[in-house]
Amino acid sequence: MTYSKEYIDRAEEVILHTYNRFQIVLDKGNGVHLYDVDGKEYLDFAAGIAVFALGYNNQAYNQALKDQIDKVIHTSNLYYNVPMMEAAEKLVKATGLSKVFFTNSGTEAIEGAIKVARKYAYLKDGSNDHEIIAMNHSFHGRSLGALSVTGNTHYQDPFKPLIGGIKFADFNDLESVKAQITDKTCAIIMETVQGEGGIYPAEPEFLQGVRKLCDEHDILLILDEIQCGMGRTGSMFACQAYGVQPDVMTCAKALGCGVPVGAFVLNEKTANASLVPGDHGTTYGGNPLACAAVSKVFDLFESEKIVEHVNKVAPYMEEKLNQLVEKYDFITTRRGKGLMQGLVLEGKPVGEIVTKAIENGLLVISAGTNVLRMVPPLVITEADIDEMIEKLEKALA
Ligand SMILES: *Cc1c(COP(=O)(O)O)cnc(C)c1O
Repeated sequence: MTYSKEYIDRAEEVILHTYNRFQIVLDKGNGVHLYDVDGKEYLDFAAGIAVFALGYNNQAYNQALKDQIDKVIHTSNLYYNVPMMEAAEKLVKATGLSKVFFTNSGTEAIEGAIKVARKYAYLKDGSNDHEIIAMNHSFHGRSLGALSVTGNTHYQDPFKPLIGGIKFADFNDLESVKAQITDKTCAIIMETVQGEGGIYPAEPEFLQGVRKLCDEHDILLILDEIQCGMGRTGSMFACQAYGVQPDVMTCAKALGCGVPVGAFVLNEKTANASLVPGDHGTTYGGNPLACAAVSKVFDLFESEKIVEHVNKVAPYMEEKLNQLVEKYDFITTRRGKGLMQGLVLEGKPVGEIVTKAIENGLLVISAGTNVLRMVPPLVITEADIDEMIEKLEKALA
């Protein structure tokens, strides 16, 4: 008997069954490879769901965390700490926005962004019936506010009533957004590249059109860059390639490269007219350990030229994936940007292919109902892409 089987049985005894997990127990990582407790190697094109951008066991990253552990791990938001200040400076510089609030997860970043939008509108007219426009097939998280703007009834229905005043429009359909705008609209929220919904990049005319609508009506544009941000699509934040700045941006996933951390980042206009002391808080958010990670991540992105690297390898990956689209009838299209890629499958269950890929030592994930998603560490090489294709083709066979 393998260790994996024993650990899985023990885990199922005590872990609430909210995931149908793949039947492997991961133990350690190095570079773009993970190893399970039985020593089997996996090429990782999932990166812990677009998290571990720098690859596993990056020594400089590990050392920064170890150093911070030996200093102090937690102090609370009642006091200042240096890693929080440094991480915020770097995040402000990278986003081109103005003020940061650190959270512990993506969903909390969304909660904060929603509160910012409501408070901003409340300060303007004192009323309590503002509306937010969100997108169908979006994903923003599992807490109740974030779930309320997640355009997926399967996730929402068991938990209703959700927060009120949310309307849905179709992503990449500007007219559908216009149709939902009223004088109560306080924000439009969307992912720059829809992730869980099936890897749909915003079309430039759409994103730019939404920005224009927001400007005309003094509506806040909230861009969720939790998955598509941090270099993944070939620019530090995906919206930067469109020349569009949000009023509020949400970050998480690769922000700490594995340490749980998120943030919502406000432009000056919004920062000056929304949350004030007493409005929002968190015990852990901005924690020195998490922020030491964020700070080091930004340093390493710069010194290891991560974004440039994405732009170098992504065309090769696109070319290789396009070849699969040509070769296999049941792969109808490739969608995505940079190292956030999806293959659209027809007539073959994506879960089955993911399971087969894992058996062949390749971690990939799904998105939506029929998209095979690849969000590898951003440090992958062309050789890793070749290895991925080889393993994936075995799974497809
Ligand atoms: C993962 C994700 C979230 C939620 O982040 P959590 O850290 O899981 O709460 C929100 N928005 C997008 C676009 C995501 O991909």
